[in-house]
Amino acid sequence: MLLLALLSLACVSDAVPLTRRMVDMSYTFDDTILHLPIVNKFQLDVVYNGTELNGIWMLGEDYSASVHLGTHMDAPAHFDPNGTAVDKIPIRHFVAPAAVIDITAKAELDPDCGATVEDLLHWERLTGQSLNQTIVLLKSGWGQKWNNMTAYIGSTEADINKMHFPGFSEESARWLVENRNIYGIGSETISFDRGAANTFPAHQIFLATAFLVWRT
Ligand SMILES: [Zn+2]
Repeated sequence: MLLLALLSLACVSDAVPLTRRMVDMSYTFDDTILHLPIVNKFQLDVVYNGTELNGIWMLGEDYSASVHLGTHMDAPAHFDPNGTAVDKIPIRHFVAPAAVIDITAKAELDPDCGATVEDLLHWERLTGQSLNQTIVLLKSGWGQKWNNMTAYIGSTEADINKMHFPGFSEESARWLVENRNIYGIGSETISFDRGAANTFPAHQIFLATAFLVWRT
């Protein structure tokens, strides 16, 4: 099981947490996990199961999977040929206050919707805090659809042009990297781009900077 724990804060200011709690937002990493139709699925092979090594009981398994499967992190090197790899990201950026941008209401009406600049500014006005030095998490309610691939991705076909789910709009991604110093983003959808944005503009914008991207 891949564990992802982020600090979730009721309110944040610039890296000065007011209250904090640990939240495990990961899914069990096994052969039931949903994945984009263009990546390899999870496979587990049992290597040892019983008294097979010098008479001692041992369970040993191998697994293979796409690195973009399940609750995982994208590094800038994913979309930028000169981008930072995971092991080069400063460790201090892995723990930061979380700012939760809630677009659940409009996502219920339109699965192709995106977080806007106004959604980001609304969070700052509401909390009286800055998004600087936070990990910006997009809450869309999509996690509720986790067990239904058609509802979660929009299609069961191996076609990235038929996906439908909410994400960061191109404009909100550009505004964030140009106007705030954030440490990362996260989304409960299978990609932090909108499903209908099949050229992955938010990937191109966010991953051109050296911060983390978490996603389901
Ligand atoms: Zn990925």
